[in-house]
Amino acid sequence: MYLIKGNEKNILVDTGGSGEEWAEEYHHGLIREKDMEPVNAVKKLGVQPEDVDLIINTHLHWDHSFNNHLFPNAKIIVQKKELEFAINPIPSHYVYYESYQIGLTPNWIKSMVNFEVVDGDKEIYEGIKVLYTPGHTPGFQSVLVNTKEGNYLIASDMVGLIENWHENTTGGVPTPSGIHVNLIEYYDSINKMKEYSNYILPGHDSKVLEYESFPNKEFQEKYFDKYLK
Ligand SMILES: [Zn+2]
Repeated sequence: MYLIKGNEKNILVDTGGSGEEWAEEYHHGLIREKDMEPVNAVKKLGVQPEDVDLIINTHLHWDHSFNNHLFPNAKIIVQKKELEFAINPIPSHYVYYESYQIGLTPNWIKSMVNFEVVDGDKEIYEGIKVLYTPGHTPGFQSVLVNTKEGNYLIASDMVGLIENWHENTTGGVPTPSGIHVNLIEYYDSINKMKEYSNYILPGHDSKVLEYESFPNKEFQEKYFDKYLK
């Protein structure tokens, strides 16, 4: 989860996964302390859950959309192609979507009434834009935020780890995630992400937790500037 404070709005990018028991039963073990629970994590940053104005779901996998309903006043931006695929995914993604085909009900259903479905790139507020970047899933969107240090792209699962962005094992471009639906689209999306952004915030890399907020010069120098110059 990332919280964007800008335009006098509180915007959440993704809402995280389930608690420990559910994850253990259907996915994998995890540790979630009290202060990591979504509502507590947001409160710790001075925002009450009812004051979250907007959620942007990068995609509807369980670990990114499980807690949408805990923010009752938020509109939820989701891509049209993502919603279509989440309802009828390919079998290798059934578990990730907790889909009905395997007898589950995705948690995002609870707050579907707040969905605002978009199709493609869209400026949400001045300086905050969703970029349609399919590959990991068919309706994936990244979130581009214009900061005083340049454009930060919240890449979520398109770039799971910072290493994905740097290690050129596949011919001079960042390395896609092993979880994908279309590698050709994925590479096109990587090129688009490179073109628009100065810095990437990955989806599953604890290195970002070394920093309280972004933009952050130390983060940029440590993980990006030496690679980009
Ligand atoms: Zn995912």
